[in-house]
Amino acid sequence: MIAVPRHFAVILAIFAIAAIILVGVITLIVVLTKKQNKKRAQAQALMLSMYDGKSAPICGNCGNRMTDGSAFCNKCGAQVEPDK
Ligand SMILES: [Zn+2]
Repeated sequence: MIAVPRHFAVILAIFAIAAIILVGVITLIVVLTKKQNKKRAQAQALMLSMYDGKSAPICGNCGNRMTDGSAFCNKCGAQVEPDK
């Protein structure tokens, strides 16, 4: 017969399952964080390109250059027509 008690094997199995779940959760968190960072970086790059480039629309009411890509001027609130 096996010298290891039965409940020890059960505890070992529970620990193994817990470890696998823990590794899975950590991997998921890492993947999600990386995805979020990528999204944030993309949004930042978009904002920067709009801020620096001439593609950023200018408010026809007050002349404010849109930097956040919104359809409305963040200075005077007028609707901004995007460049065509
Ligand atoms: Zn404006």
